[in-house]
Amino acid sequence: MKYIPTIGLEVHVELKTRTKMFCDSLNDPEEKYPNQNVCPVCLGHPGTLPTINQRAVEAVIKVGLAMGATIAAATKFDRKNYFYPDLPKGYQISQYDQPLVSGGTVELAKTKVKIRLRRIHLEEDTGRLLHDTTGETKNEASLVDFNRAGVPLMELVTEPDFKSGEEAVEFGKYLQQLLRYLEVSDADMEKGQMRVEANVSLGEWVRGNWKQGTKVEVKNLNSFKSVKEAIDYEIKRQEEVLSSRGKVTQETRGWNDAKRITFSQRSKEEAHDYRYFPEPDLPPFETKVFNLEELKNSLPELPREKRARFVKEFHLTEEQADALVGGKAVAEFFEEMDSEIRKFCDEVVDVPGNEHHGKKFREIKNFLSNVRDRAFKFLVNELQGLRNQAGEEGKITPEHLAHFSFLIEIGAVDDSKETGRQKRQDILLRMFKTGEDPEDIFNAKGIYIISDIVELKRMVREVIAENPQAVADYKKGKTASIQFLIGKAMGKLRGRGNPETLRAIFEKLLTK
Ligand code: ADP
Ligand code: MG
Repeated sequence: MKYIPTIGLEVHVELKTRTKMFCDSLNDPEEKYPNQNVCPVCLGHPGTLPTINQRAVEAVIKVGLAMGATIAAATKFDRKNYFYPDLPKGYQISQYDQPLVSGGTVELAKTKVKIRLRRIHLEEDTGRLLHDTTGETKNEASLVDFNRAGVPLMELVTEPDFKSGEEAVEFGKYLQQLLRYLEVSDADMEKGQMRVEANVSLGEWVRGNWKQGTKVEVKNLNSFKSVKEAIDYEIKRQEEVLSSRGKVTQETRGWNDAKRITFSQRSKEEAHDYRYFPEPDLPPFETKVFNLEELKNSLPELPREKRARFVKEFHLTEEQADALVGGKAVAEFFEEMDSEIRKFCDEVVDVPGNEHHGKKFREIKNFLSNVRDRAFKFLVNELQGLRNQAGEEGKITPEHLAHFSFLIEIGAVDDSKETGRQKRQDILLRMFKTGEDPEDIFNAKGIYIISDIVELKRMVREVIAENPQAVADYKKGKTASIQFLIGKAMGKLRGRGNPETLRAIFEKLLTK
């Protein structure tokens, strides 16, 4: 293709504050009944006065700080005038020329492309229109619900630095994750809590000069899938227009979710002149009323930092770390589970960092990482699967899943066979439903396990005492003789122990 796509995003995010942006009506996205959370201010009655919700301002500042952007020293609100039935005042309070946040860049993890932020400002959401398509007034009436009117809305605008739908989606996912980590929004696209608009144009080099194309704005993108498909569609559509010597019209297009196409909504000629002017009912304000330094220090660990730490601390691959940091709750579950795993493993073997690990470091590390690997898979694949199926969190605690992974690793069920795998799944499901300790379930099911590490160690000590020759050989450096000792122990356990666990215990006891 001789044309080069240029894409910029505008993202609106509903903030999760207790009350609305300029009044004390509740900001409750779960409210099912229309027009419950309303008052004269958000209904736009004449003579009412807005007041600024400090928590909303703070939320936007946090986002700005987390993205390395500049927080304005002074900022103000402006009126954006237009008429629409979901906007009772006839204007939206927004920010025009002095946005709260500006600048900053985000580097996309995959392609390393740098996306510059233009600005982040604060405004208010509109009401919601419901078009009656079934009732008595079928297709003749629209209903309006003002529960959403005046909800704090953050608008983030990027520079046109994207080249594909895929890059735009990566940025969107990064932003969504960030908003959730900062707990400023649930950013659920299906619920309209995060709404993406994409600006797309195609440019080309003509005799060494860059010729910028006309941009088209695409709205109603309510999933990442739609963001990607709409941008890809628009690139293709514009390419076809240009290739057949046509002209791309500057316009706003909608995305038809069913047909997966964009369609014209309004052209530039129909565009509004908003006649912005400073909101006379709100004073300009200085952000130094917030302690920015303190606010910055109070930010939680952000997804990217967490990802890097997980790779380093838990020896995970980047893909594994991504699967965990995707959700804050899953990441926290994993961390708690890991510290339990360390506790269990510490009873059997010395974990890395322990002064005794010495020359057996590699084997010991393997045991820990085997348990962790299992735990990771149980969490990411099986537990998440159960949660999705049941539509609830379930009752498995991080400690129980750690214990379970540990028991499976030391051979409580032989899951190299189908029957063993089935048993394993049954037990996990029972843990999920009842919250029982896995060991109690194993016992109740009459599954023979050696979960009592003290008991296992005692038995290994017995084997050591009974076989002084093999022990002496091992200590002299004939490491193969450990195989003989493991065989003896397996004999005592009537073949039901796990050789890897036994090896780890022997190594721990013999190298001390
Ligand atoms: P407007 O004045 O029409 O609102 P702006 O320059 O303010 O346009 O930009 C609005 C959005 O459009 C931003 O996200 C910006 O990145 C994007 N944008 C600007 N120029 C282009 C372009 N040539 N192609 C694609 N997107 C663009
Ligand atoms: Mg806006």
